[in-house]
Amino acid sequence: MIELFKLRGKKIWVAGSTGMVGSAVVRELSKEECLIIAPNRKELDLLDQLSVNQFLKITKPDIIVIAAATVGGILANSTRPAEFIYENITIAGNIIHGAHINEINRLLFLGSACIYPREAEQPMTEEALLQGRLEPTNEWYAIAKISGIKMCQAYKMQYGRDYISAQPNNLYGTHDNFDVNSGHVIPALMQRAHLAKVNCEDELSVWGTGSVLREFLHVDDCARALIHLLKFYNDDIPINIGTGEEITIKELAIKVCDIVGFKGKLIFDDNKPDGSPRKLLNSDRIKNLGWKSSIKLEEGLKETYEWYKINTMH
Ligand code: GDP
Repeated sequence: MIELFKLRGKKIWVAGSTGMVGSAVVRELSKEECLIIAPNRKELDLLDQLSVNQFLKITKPDIIVIAAATVGGILANSTRPAEFIYENITIAGNIIHGAHINEINRLLFLGSACIYPREAEQPMTEEALLQGRLEPTNEWYAIAKISGIKMCQAYKMQYGRDYISAQPNNLYGTHDNFDVNSGHVIPALMQRAHLAKVNCEDELSVWGTGSVLREFLHVDDCARALIHLLKFYNDDIPINIGTGEEITIKELAIKVCDIVGFKGKLIFDDNKPDGSPRKLLNSDRIKNLGWKSSIKLEEGLKETYEWYKINTMH
């Protein structure tokens, strides 16, 4: 396949480079003979439009990857709606508009699988976008992500910019947020199962009924997909990134407990929200471009737990 965009020798700004996705993108890009710029939060405040514009004017990257976002699990999303909608819309607006006024022609914006309607037909194709009502537990985040996607389409349509978007499914891996309240299910459950083991507890509570289905994608697979898209994709359709495999939260909890070595009983707490009943992406479009996931869930979970043990306080 012929590369539409060459990364070699290019200056690439990875916005959000200290986060889980951004740091994985930086690791993958370092194999590409390009120059990576990756200011941290203290060096550049993405919520400040003036600072973003100045930064772009001075550094003039050739390409931008927007992996910066205010993210969190089901509880964080439903209890901090203002932060999720304001910060994500502002980050998208500041960077995408800043890129345009500074004549930066190539940009990749990261969406999320939660942009799709709650009742979308499964597996969800890219055409399902805006065809129905969103899942209420994360609609604030979803609206912000849809705004970023629509900005990429609008700047392509009006100004001819080569701005693209992609939405990975539920991500996990190294550098994740293992906080039990604000993290997504894999890191939060891993941390809680680990603490339950260390504290010799008999039970572990799993949020929700455990019967809902999720598709999980390792962050290194996601980073490779994003770099593949930077090279080969230039359509205005925001493109899905998934493994094609799904698992119930109950099966996931059993796997996590196995890996962590917690042998107690699982209790399902249906006072906590389930969220979407099912969230499987149809990833045919990216597969047809020559990318597929390579890290199996079991393997990815083991690697994540090893990282967690070395890199967190416990
Ligand atoms: P979602 O995919 O947007 O719903 O995000 P999450 O990763 O936060 O949650 C996925 C599913 O896992 C939901 O049904 C949660 O109720 C369930 N779940 C079970 N235990 C936990 C937990 O400890 N933390 C989180 N965040 N979710 C959990």
